This record gives sequence, structure tokens and C-alpha cells, in this order.
Amino acid sequence: MSTVYTVPGEGLLSLTAAELAEKIHSRELTSREVTQAFLDRIAETDGELNAFLHVGAEEALAAADAVDASLDAGEKPASALAGVPIALKDLFVTTDAPTTAASKMLEGWMSPYDATVTVRLREAGIPILGKTNLDEFAMGSSTENSAYGPSHNPYDLERTAGGSGGGTSAAVASGQAPLGIGTDTGGSIRQPAALTNTVGVKPTYGTVSRYGMIAAASSLDQGGPSARTVLDTALLHQVIAGPDKFDATSVDKPVPDVVAAAKEGAGGDLTGVKVGVIKQLSGGAGWQQGVLDRFQAGVEQLTSQGAEIVEVDCPSFSEALAAYYLIMPSEFSSNIARFDGMRYGLRVGDDGTRSADEVMSLSRAAGFGPEVKRRIILGTYALSVGYYDAYYLQAQRVRNLVARDFAKAYEVADVLVSPVTPTTAFKFGAFSKDPVEMYNFDLCTLPLNLAGLCGMSVPNGFAAEDDMPVGLQIMAPAFQDDRLYRVGAAFEAGRK
Ligand code: GLN
Repeated sequence: MSTVYTVPGEGLLSLTAAELAEKIHSRELTSREVTQAFLDRIAETDGELNAFLHVGAEEALAAADAVDASLDAGEKPASALAGVPIALKDLFVTTDAPTTAASKMLEGWMSPYDATVTVRLREAGIPILGKTNLDEFAMGSSTENSAYGPSHNPYDLERTAGGSGGGTSAAVASGQAPLGIGTDTGGSIRQPAALTNTVGVKPTYGTVSRYGMIAAASSLDQGGPSARTVLDTALLHQVIAGPDKFDATSVDKPVPDVVAAAKEGAGGDLTGVKVGVIKQLSGGAGWQQGVLDRFQAGVEQLTSQGAEIVEVDCPSFSEALAAYYLIMPSEFSSNIARFDGMRYGLRVGDDGTRSADEVMSLSRAAGFGPEVKRRIILGTYALSVGYYDAYYLQAQRVRNLVARDFAKAYEVADVLVSPVTPTTAFKFGAFSKDPVEMYNFDLCTLPLNLAGLCGMSVPNGFAAEDDMPVGLQIMAPAFQDDRLYRVGAAFEAGRK
């Protein structure tokens, strides 16, 4: 097993984003030297990690110089993270770098506008190091569906860094970037975080703008932060969240003070906090014992920090996976229709002899990988006349039950906890024969997407069998994202 690609123990790369920001703002370090150090780390390690699809060194350094100039002129930092660089999942559109969604379909395409998240990063003075790898159009759990090869886990290069946001998690876990942005439709921020010993948060639906984030399943997708500490994640959450007039599903509510919550939690005291353990997400066939042992140890730790543990019953969660894998492909099959070989990116067979329909069909056949095609077929089938009631509508009923089970659980618990994944990071190819086995890997993360709630994965040690990272999932009700940070920071402090 190789650990050479985990974060260096000393030097600039070992600092947290909060520490880097402090040194940049006090002028002990410049944003340029910090940004350059991460660019060097990428150049040194990305041949093997494959975390980035595009590195924008020049643009990142120009953004860093702008921050340095403004700080040298005595101006206040544009944000708490001004000057600290970031890795951005290649699902957010950017005007100064290509956006591919890890698909051949979008190869060479440049967006005419920036996503709202991209704009907020720029306005906050956060240099964008580059665009990170993912499963094609965020469909998958390992980045093996990327058209550009998978990202490798910094803890063991023969294993996945998770998915769909494996590029971001590999970058953060290896010290290529102190901060990262992902998207989470069914777990794509939390699951890669768990598999790489990092922190990842899926904010409440409607609180981070989806404008300019290429849609997978619009009622489930949400952008969110990744980092190595809960506080860094909170600082980034604060930058990207908040109402946006360009996103019709954006909720017009102030963002809870997640930074204050993380700082409060760092004291480690959980007295009076009621933590629910979900009966349905606590083991079963195919679960790795070391993951269950870590979960048990995590729950004991929470108890020792003063939390009160209650068991909660969420019977509908046993059907949540099936419902997700109907709703998700249904919405996706409709969203992906815009990539037709006419408007964006790849066009195949347009030689003057073929009809538009033929060109569309040839372009889509050449541009999309097998998993994307599978989901288009699944989704189109579930939405078709005659099957709509039996599949799509039935799945929506389960979705309602999931939301009700969560609501009932939150009557007795302030937060819920569960493992994030049934096993640690798997080896490449482990699920290549049966895609449904890969889908099963998402069983703990996707319920809260169905209900539009928020969740965090926070490091919870290493499994005994393979010494690979394990995460603890913390979940909270809608718009109570601050609870995640309070409990997450307390858990993190308690582990030290
Ligand atoms: N693995 C899940 C899927 O394939 C989740 C993906 C995501 O969150 N983008 O749909």
C-alpha cells in the first residue's frame, strides 16, 4: 500500500485553509506562493492521481496576484478565505477553462458564462487551480465512468477515490488543494470524502445555487464544500451558499452561521444533543466489519462527549435506493436531451448527406459512455406512457415516505448518524460486472437527497482489515446545516 500521496506532514501544504488564510491576510505568506505550492504539488502527483481534467495555472496565479495587490494596498480581504486556492468539480461552468463533465460530448466546449458558485469563488478572492475529474455527468460512485480515466485514492492508488466527485476528494486528500467544490445528487460529495479521510458537506436543497452547475437530476442536485477540516468546510460553505435570482429553486433564506457553529463545536461538548442511529443503515449483507466497528466506535465517542443516543426507525429507507435509481435517471434522461450534437460540443456525421436526426443519434452514440446511456434508457422507460405510474410515480410515493420517516426521526433526534458507505474504497473494476452492485454502494447517502435535507461526512478513522479511511455521516433537518457543523466539529475535536 502506498501512502506517499497523502498530505505532507509539514510545510505550507500541511496547513489548513483557515491557517493559510490567516497567514496570507497577515502578509506572512502571499497568495501567489501558496497557489504556486499547490500547483507544484499537482504537477508532481497528478500523473498518478488523475484528480484534474484541467489545470489553470496562469488564471489561478493571476487571481492570486489580484488578492495580494489588494491586501498590499491595505484593503480588507474579500472573504475569510481570500487568497486560498481551490479545486472545482468539472460540472460547474467557467469562462476561462473548459467544462467537460468528464464526457467526450463536451470536449472542447467553452461556457459563455460562469456558474453562480464560480462567481462567488472569484468574488471571494479564491483562486481556482483547475477543474476536477468526476464520473461522466456525475453518474457513478467511483469516477470509473469518467471519459478521461479514473481518479486514484491517495491512500492506495489501486482503489477508487470515490464518486462521482473522486477528483475533488483525491485533490483535497493529497494536498493538491486545501479546498474543493463538489456536487451531491445521491452522495457524490459525502461518499468520496468518506473514502479519502476528508470532510464533505451536502447542503440543504435550495441553499447553494444550481445556476451553471450542469444538471444531473434537478430535484436532487446540490453543490457543496470539501476540505480536510470541518472549520474549512464551514468557511467555504459560507462563501458559496445563499439566495440566487438565477436559480428558480434557490430559497430566499439567510444561511445559518455555519462558521460560528463549527467554532462552537470545536469545544467538543455535546451535552444535551440527541443523536439518532438509524436502524436501517446499521449493517446487513455485504457490509465490511471494520466499517461497522468504526461506526460503533464513533457512536461511543459521541456518547462520551455527552450526546444522548436514540435509535430511530426509518422503514422506507429500505426502498429508498430503488426509488432514487428511478427518479434520478428519469430527471437525468430529460436534462441530458440538450446534449444533442447540435448546440454544444461534439457533432458526428454532419457531412451534408444526413438528416439532423441521424446526426443527433450518431453524436450521442459517440459522445456518451455506457453508464450515461444506461441511465437515459432507464429514465426514458420509467417516464414512458404505460410505465409512468408503475415506476416513476411509485418512486415519488416512496420519496414522500422517506421525507416522512426523516421528519418523524427528527421529532426525537437533533441529528442522525450512520456510516457513509458499506465498505471502504473498493479496488478498480470491483463492480464492473454488475452496475446494480455499484448502485448499492449509495444506500446510506441517497435518502437525504430524496428529502432535500443536509448531511456531512466527517473522518472516522481507518478500517481494521485494510487500513483505509472510514467516514461518519451526520444528517440534519432542512435549513439546520449549522447542526452538522456543530456536531461534526465536536466529533472531529473528540477524535484528536
Ligand atoms: N452515485 C450516485 C449516482 O450514480 C450519486 C451521484 C451523484 O451524487 N452525483 O447517481
